Order: sequence, then structure tokens, then C-alpha cells
Amino acid sequence: MAQIIPPKYVKQVLVVLQSHGYLAYLVGGCVRDMILGVHPQDWDICTSALPEQVRELFEHTVTTGIRHGTVTVMIHSHAVEVTTFRSDGDYADHRHPDAVSFVGDLTSDLARRDFTMNAIALPPDGLVADPFGGIADIENKLIRCVGEPERRFEEDALRMFRALRFSARLGFTVEEKTLAAIDEKAPLAAKLSAERVRDEVEKMLLTPRCEILRRVIGAGLLDGFLLTRGEESMSAELARISSLPRKALPRWAAFCAILEKRGMISSVRGFLTALRLDGRTIRCCEDCCALLKTEPPRTAKEWKKLLNRYGVDTADCAARCHDALRGGRCRDALRAVLKSGECFSVRHLAVSGDDLVELGLRGRELGEMLNFLLDYVMDYPENNRRELLLQLAGGTEES
Ligand code: ATP
Ligand code: MG
Repeated sequence: MAQIIPPKYVKQVLVVLQSHGYLAYLVGGCVRDMILGVHPQDWDICTSALPEQVRELFEHTVTTGIRHGTVTVMIHSHAVEVTTFRSDGDYADHRHPDAVSFVGDLTSDLARRDFTMNAIALPPDGLVADPFGGIADIENKLIRCVGEPERRFEEDALRMFRALRFSARLGFTVEEKTLAAIDEKAPLAAKLSAERVRDEVEKMLLTPRCEILRRVIGAGLLDGFLLTRGEESMSAELARISSLPRKALPRWAAFCAILEKRGMISSVRGFLTALRLDGRTIRCCEDCCALLKTEPPRTAKEWKKLLNRYGVDTADCAARCHDALRGGRCRDALRAVLKSGECFSVRHLAVSGDDLVELGLRGRELGEMLNFLLDYVMDYPENNRRELLLQLAGGTEES
């Protein structure tokens, strides 16, 4: 089955647990990825050992997740999450189990997991445990809840986002009953914290199939953040987000531009603030969306003015979004300007504020002179020379 084998440090953790008489399995995303022939992002182990027993066996452990039975084992500077077999109690708030109980058996642990493809366990030796048919579902590229989907989404509404996110990431289909349950239970998403929703949306934005956000919005999963659910026709636009580099910033900016253009948000800032994005991302997305509403620069000087006002990162983000959403070669034009090394900021002028002070300029006059020189140099980049600028500023350089 698996072409991909776990690294030595992971095997070591499994073997230590086993040699002390505990059951230990690789589980969850890493097993799914191994079956798919993809290198796992992280390695999770489930075990019959209680958290305290895991701690005793390894020299370096971190216990931030211990309430949920997870001990992070640090081994040769790698982290491996080791979680005691558990089953979750009821979920009165649709997002946190009321109680977590440790159980002795693997099948109960697998039963609490979200999808069949994530509920497969692999021992270091011996047969794979797949009580819910996860391997067959992976082969058929199907995302299916473990158990009744309505019930599972009632327990934790985030699973609805996870189902659609995995489908976008892996190119899988969400099985019919699971999909119908998303439409039915979508209102429960209102109970989720904005941070968890943000993280899911960001992960979807980083997939090769951003059009999945149409399904997310259409089902009503983002109703708490949007004015309307938009229309089917937005799919094609959303798909274009995936042609941007796989980075959060340009992808959030493009997403906001699409929502704003369609009147689905009242402001970029309001939308991103509600989703608890950080200040830098909010500012950059706001500027990018404002720029996308204008005609792109046509001359090198217009690009330099834009660079001066917004900085390289925002200009680059806006140029990339423009090309991805509207088509065009803004990014090439911007790169040519940056490559030319031509001055677009007073910081790059061949004279400094101090030079102008020596010429007797002060305060507003000094600021105006710097801007005048910058404007001149933007027109005549070859003239960004000290003597010449000092002359223009009203004096000659003393020697
Ligand atoms: P990724 O590659 O994105 O990390 P993953 O499947 O490893 O994918 P994680 O969020 O790391 O996803 O979770 C690890 C495992 O824990 C999952 O494979 C699944 O078995 C279980 N799991 C995670 N979140 C939930 C949830 N909300 N409900 C039920 N089980 C979950
Ligand atoms: Mg994982």
C-alpha cells in the first residue's frame, strides 16, 4: 500500500510505546496521505497509554493539549502528537465535547473522527485498522462522515467546513448524504468562533480549487459574515484565485475584491475584522481592493507613484490580483519598473533631508522640495544625481 514510510523518529515513538506494552498506531491525516502517496504534513499517533504514561516514557514532552489527551513528544527537534484513545461526550455547544473520556480501544477512538478517510489506523507492524471503509472511500475519492452526518455536524459544525476543504484540497467528492447534511445543518456554523472559520476559509483559499467557496457560501456557512449568498456565476471568478501564488495575502485580497464587487460585503475592513484577520492583512487587502477598482497604471511614472503611495508589497499584491481576476500583464510592468532600479521614494533620492537642511530649508518648505525633487526624478530617472538635485534645490554643492 504505502510507498511513503514514516521517518525514523516517528517509528521510534511507536516502538517505545509498543515495547512498554501499549497499543500505538499512526492515525488520521498521515495515514490518509500515505495511502494517497502524498508526504504527510505532520504525524499523529494514537495510543492506549494515558497521557501521564506517555510523559514518563519520553524525555522531552509538551503538554499543552493534555486536556484532550494529547502529549507532544519532542524527538530530535521534531514534534509528534501522541493522543490517548478517547471518545467524545455530547456537544451541547456544537463545537466542544462536554467531556472527553479515555477509552481502551481503538475502534471507539476512530469512531469519534470526522471522515472515514481520517479514521484509519496503521500499526508499526501488522494490519491496518479500517472499521469504517476509509480505504475504499479514498480509492473512490469520496468524503463521507463516520456515522450519521447530521449528528456529526451537530456535534461540531466545523466539520462542514472541513468536508468542503478536504474536497477542494484533494479533488474528492463529498458523498451525497454528507453534502445534503451540510445544507441542512449550515445554520449551526453561526456558533463557531470567527477564528476557526477564518482558519478554514484561509485553508480553502490555499487549495487549487478555490471555487469550493461558492459551495461554502451557497450552503450558508458564511451567512454570519456576508450580506448575501451571491450567485452561481461567482464560481468562475473564485476559481481564478487558485492561479495566484499559494500565499494567504494575495488570495484574501482577491477573495475580498470578488465579494465587494458583487455587493456581498459592505466593506473589506469590516469583513476581515469580523473574521479576526491581522491588521497588516486588513490594510493590504483594503488597499488592493481600492486599487483594483481603478484603471491600472499605464506608464512607468504612474507605477512609481503607486509604489511610493502603497509600497512594494501592496503594489505587487494588487498587480497579481489584477492579472488573475481581470487578465493582463500588470505584474510584468511592475517588475520591469522595480528591476530598472528607478527611484520612487524620497528615501532613494540622491539627496537627503539633511542635505536640504544645510541649504537652509526647513519644515513644510523642506517637505515640498523633497516631493518636487522626487516628482522630477520620477520623470527623469537618469538625473537622480546629487550635484544636480542640490542645484535644483537652490544651491551648489560646497567642496
Ligand atoms: P491536515 O493534513 O490538514 O493536517 P488532518 O486530517 O491531519 O489534515 P488535523 O486537523 O490535523 O487534520 O486533524 C488530525 C485528525 O484528527 C483528523 O485526521 C481526524 O481524524 C481528527 N479530527 C480533526 N478535527 C476533527 C473534528 N473537528 N472532528 C472529528 N475529528 C477530527
Ligand atoms: Mg494533521
